[in-house]
Amino acid sequence: MIKVQGMYKRFGKTTALDALDMEVPRGSIYGLIGPNGAGKTTAMSILATLMLPDGGSAAVDGHDVLSEPMAVRGVIGYMPDFFGVYDGLKTCEYLDFFADAYYVPQSRRKTLIGELLELVNLSDKYDSYVDLLSRGMKQRLALARCLVHDPKVLILDEPASGLDPRARAELKEIIKHLKQLDKTVLISSHILPELGEICDQVGIMEKGRLISSGPVEEITAAGRGASLLRIQVLDKVSGLADFIKPRDNVVSVEQDEGALRVIFRGDPQSRGKLLRDIIEGGWVVTEFAEVRRNLEEAFMAVTGEGVLK
Ligand code: ADP
Ligand code: MG
Repeated sequence: MIKVQGMYKRFGKTTALDALDMEVPRGSIYGLIGPNGAGKTTAMSILATLMLPDGGSAAVDGHDVLSEPMAVRGVIGYMPDFFGVYDGLKTCEYLDFFADAYYVPQSRRKTLIGELLELVNLSDKYDSYVDLLSRGMKQRLALARCLVHDPKVLILDEPASGLDPRARAELKEIIKHLKQLDKTVLISSHILPELGEICDQVGIMEKGRLISSGPVEEITAAGRGASLLRIQVLDKVSGLADFIKPRDNVVSVEQDEGALRVIFRGDPQSRGKLLRDIIEGGWVVTEFAEVRRNLEEAFMAVTGEGVLK
């Protein structure tokens, strides 16, 4: 549904997107995870046709973002990472304004607004002023706003950011509901682990590139797809890191005190081969184990943002 190929974007000396490749399957909830500054907002703004890339291409539902921006806009609902507040507007007026902007006929708007408010659990806020809503309510209203033209694709930039656990749980339920309505959802977060359970696919982004992507189980579960290995040797551990890095199936190697944490993408046979090669390379291996991890740990491990316990 969304296809990004070799996308570049620079801001002065900063490279925000560095040959980004990403594919979001139709009907999936795709979580784009990455630390602040990874390039998530930049990628989403380009997909939302609000910013031009310096190179590469992207298409949404078969429409090219550069040559057919209006077609793309018809297909997507974009929720930016800030809430555009309009003082003195009521919730119903706010949605009416956006419905008008998307050419929803006036005769249909009242019903539509009622349905949207129900979808995001804000029916009782129909007449409330937008600026008086809680943050969680504003986020849900912003979500309703991107649905006024019934888009097939939703691009949600950090919708859970700043929400308390309860508000986040409510948001999750709504996003699950969107999937039942056959929407494709691209959702970003630097704390995606909390949204992990609702995503079918995740892409882990760092420094403008996707460094790991696939079904959530593949990213997180040991044994299938990428797994996390903990390797300990008696000595020469940094030499071992250099030895392992360029090998087949090795995604990344990190040194944590005396041990190495290796993200490995390969079958048991190739894992066995790695162990044999290390031993034949002269290292005394004291530990070679697969570590189970949840999405949060996977994120930490892959982005190198934290220490895996
Ligand atoms: P994320 O959303 O993952 O936190 P961004 O896409 O916002 O990341 O930013 C990626 C990089 O590009 C960062 O280094 C950021 O400082 C830089 N950047 C983003 N937007 C601009 C801009 N308008 N001008 C200059 N630098 C920018
Ligand atoms: Mg951002």
